[in-house]
Amino acid sequence: MSFNSLGLSPALLQAISQKGYTNPSPIQEKAIPPVLEGHDVLASAQTGTGKTAGFTLPLLHILSENPKQKYRPIRALILTPTRELAAQVYANVQEYSAFLNLKSAVIFGGVNQKPQAAAIRQGIDVLVATPGRLLDLQRQGLLSLKRVEIFVLDEADRMLDMGFLRDIKSVIDVMPDKRQNLMFSATFSPDIKKLAQGILNQPVQVETTPENTTVDAITQKVYRVAKGSKPGLIIKLISDGNWKQVLVFTRTKHGANKLCEKMMKAGISAAAIHGNKSQGARTKALSGFKSGRVRVLVATDIAARGLDIPLLPHVINYELPNVSEDYVHRIGRTGRAGAKGEAISLVCAEETTYLRDIEKLIGLKLPVSIIEGFEPDPNASTKPEKRPQGRRTSNQNNNGDRKNNSYKPKEASPGRNSRQRRNKR
Ligand code: AMP
Repeated sequence: MSFNSLGLSPALLQAISQKGYTNPSPIQEKAIPPVLEGHDVLASAQTGTGKTAGFTLPLLHILSENPKQKYRPIRALILTPTRELAAQVYANVQEYSAFLNLKSAVIFGGVNQKPQAAAIRQGIDVLVATPGRLLDLQRQGLLSLKRVEIFVLDEADRMLDMGFLRDIKSVIDVMPDKRQNLMFSATFSPDIKKLAQGILNQPVQVETTPENTTVDAITQKVYRVAKGSKPGLIIKLISDGNWKQVLVFTRTKHGANKLCEKMMKAGISAAAIHGNKSQGARTKALSGFKSGRVRVLVATDIAARGLDIPLLPHVINYELPNVSEDYVHRIGRTGRAGAKGEAISLVCAEETTYLRDIEKLIGLKLPVSIIEGFEPDPNASTKPEKRPQGRRTSNQNNNGDRKNNSYKPKEASPGRNSRQRRNKR
């Protein structure tokens, strides 16, 4: 199938061709037609499948077909869980609307709100936002969502995981009832299905990859190793393979920093990206990684969500996640849009249970190898390491964004259990 047969306007086809896309990805093929027909859509799609264009292209088409309104009220809202994803989606919106008379803006926390408020005051058609800053500005009367025609909830599973359920409900309360809703999620837990029921009206369901299965283009490997030998092994793998662009996941921010230092000592350029880093530091680390100046980007799960790194060849789980779904999200960073990728996990004895849980979730037994000199410790306990059961404070989310102080969640959100297990990120 070609983009021409999807019914998109010539201005959008021109932008698509400028991006260098030749054919729509499966999610685009399936999602674009029902969105253009005005249906609500519930799509299961991982990052890397081209889902952003799957909702952005038809959304822009619909907005550009209808007459522009004099004061440019916000007519489309795209809600994303993280700043990085918001910035990435916004960049895509700009590229795809290059030949259209539509204006867009992005807002997220962690940076001065003034330029964001000024951009909105000038009148925009499409707003990309993270929930905290959106509600902040809305409550200050600096933006109105009363004229929203299309609402996109991107990475809905991660939204719940990050405790944004109440915020999502608050956003919905300030939008008109009559609107088109598009919801994208990589995984479909019962909580996600419940959220979808509350938001979507007779949605068309679009599925490209089966629930929680990993993309075929990704080769997955496990190296069994003693915990203390992990730094040596990861440095060996990266050096011997002469890998130039590797995304490494650690479970904690402290772990990310420590590993980064070890890499640098071994002469491998590395940067860490996590919730304790300022927005400026995160942007710098990411652009260094994208440009090839930084070989290794060490990230925690929350920080990595939403990073758009095209054609990433290697992902390494330095530590396995204790929330199995995160494994699927992590390895979705490689093998993007049809390219081949490799996902490697370094697994020590105490991560045995996590490995088993992951294999159960993805329905696959992962091939295990041992590298000479980096053998697992036969005497180590397989009992999972004890992690403190801390919870995030009510006014700070895992993204490090300060939330509006008037927002104090009392009820447990569906993401609560996983959040409890997810401390220290
Ligand atoms: P996404 O899943 O939206 O994060 O997109 C993943 C990557 O695929 C991004 O780098 C996009 O620019 C790229 N992409 C999106 N659609 C296509 C397409 N039809 N052909 C090739 N690449 C694409």
